[in-house]
Amino acid sequence: MIIDCHGHYTTAPPQLQAFRDGQIAAFKGVAATAGWERATADISDDEIRSSLEGAQLKLQRQRGTDLTIFSPRASAMGHHVGGEGTSVAWTRICNDMIARVVSLYPDNFVGVCQLPQSPGAGLKQVVAELERCVTELRFIGCNLNPDPSGGHWTAPPLTDRFWYPVYEKMVELDVPAMVHVSASCNPAFHATGAHYINADTTAFMQFIQADLFKDFPTLRFIIPHGGGAVPYHWGRYRGLAQDMKRPPLTALLNNVFFDTCVYHQPGIDLLAEVIPVDNILFGSEMVGAVRGVDPTTGHNYDDTKRYIEALPLSDADKKKIYEGNARRVFPRLDARLKARGL
Ligand SMILES: [Zn+2]
Repeated sequence: MIIDCHGHYTTAPPQLQAFRDGQIAAFKGVAATAGWERATADISDDEIRSSLEGAQLKLQRQRGTDLTIFSPRASAMGHHVGGEGTSVAWTRICNDMIARVVSLYPDNFVGVCQLPQSPGAGLKQVVAELERCVTELRFIGCNLNPDPSGGHWTAPPLTDRFWYPVYEKMVELDVPAMVHVSASCNPAFHATGAHYINADTTAFMQFIQADLFKDFPTLRFIIPHGGGAVPYHWGRYRGLAQDMKRPPLTALLNNVFFDTCVYHQPGIDLLAEVIPVDNILFGSEMVGAVRGVDPTTGHNYDDTKRYIEALPLSDADKKKIYEGNARRVFPRLDARLKARGL
């Protein structure tokens, strides 16, 4: 079985974005969230089906993957837009759309939620939405944005006690978080080319600098996009940890995992050489950041299964990357698959 740990609903029916456009236009007034419960009521099941059949489902079939861990479009989370109420309404709508996708295609998708973060706000709403999504919508994880400001980095580091309420809930529910920023409102940082990769790298350095996993030994994070610059600069991070009298990086590997959303063979080769195979989860982030065809290979950049296939690893190790590690990091998924005899 091939589990893609990183997919977003980038092709949702246009009514979803229409609501968001109206919300953004109105967020300064009371209309920010008025009527939002019905915002997507006119999206039919058939519209949802057709939004997926020609995209994520077609690519699953073409590429031979089975199940996508699916979350709302990350760049559209837009935590920096409006206030906390804006974020709560938008987040609930987006998560409910994922729940509808999963209910239509339970064999192909399993849900991961966006969280209603907002710059300067506390985490009460975040914790409540995480609980709702896991206990009511049967989601198996969340996307946690380390920078709800959208590129200005005003939030405390992920190791700060500020974040502990959401970690306590993650531990209680036994769900991991993917560290995932959203759009950048800082023109210095291109969203998917700079801001995403910066955030991945930044999160890992934050984990080096503090003792978060002493307080939460079972807390689990997936750092996407191959871990940003981390695998490439592993020696730098090892050396920094050593100079700072911090534990060796291997101490983080019970809690920190990396996906394979690296869009060329040498990058995947390096990832697999540097990061232990037990810490790599197959992911493609399709249909997502990079949609084109690589003229040097004739294949889509985000067809990451091809790169895994080409790795000089045993079938047992590839099975870990494709399935075993995801089932370990997402225990609720493992339980669900076991219940289906898988
Ligand atoms: Zn993503």
